[in-house]
Amino acid sequence: MEKRIERIKKQLHSQSYKLTPQREATVRVLLEHEEDHLSAEDVYLLVKEKAPEIGLATVYRTLELLSELKVVDKINFGDGVSRYDLRQEGAAHFHHHLVCIECGAVDEIQEDLLGDVEKIVEEHWKFQVKDHRLTFHGICSRCHENKPE
Ligand SMILES: [Zn+2]
Ligand SMILES: [Zn+2]
Ligand SMILES: [Zn+2]
Repeated sequence: MEKRIERIKKQLHSQSYKLTPQREATVRVLLEHEEDHLSAEDVYLLVKEKAPEIGLATVYRTLELLSELKVVDKINFGDGVSRYDLRQEGAAHFHHHLVCIECGAVDEIQEDLLGDVEKIVEEHWKFQVKDHRLTFHGICSRCHENKPE
């Protein structure tokens, strides 16, 4: 965790930003909840536990900055709420999501899996793929197992 914070700090520095205590508290919350897909309000409530003086606007600006710097990705699962998702270190493209329509669970696929599709898009549409968002909506294995066909 400390090493990752150190690397994020360097990433900010390279763009002439400082990792202020408020920004660091926000980054720590994101790292501690890496598996989750937190909204700005979720992040705010968790950061507030560590840094009670922090305001929602500061957390919000920090999240926007982190998404500009590609430390986090902003994602929307169709419920109108922006969520912030830490980007996997070294990953060229954003990971995929499996959203369960029964229980609301969000699982992740870290492998890109889209190499062939990207190639087709680049060749057929002469479009240079830089990134993508892929969300599957369906029934997760846990819900599936609990429900006999
Ligand atoms: Zn994710
Ligand atoms: Zn890809
Ligand atoms: Zn489910």
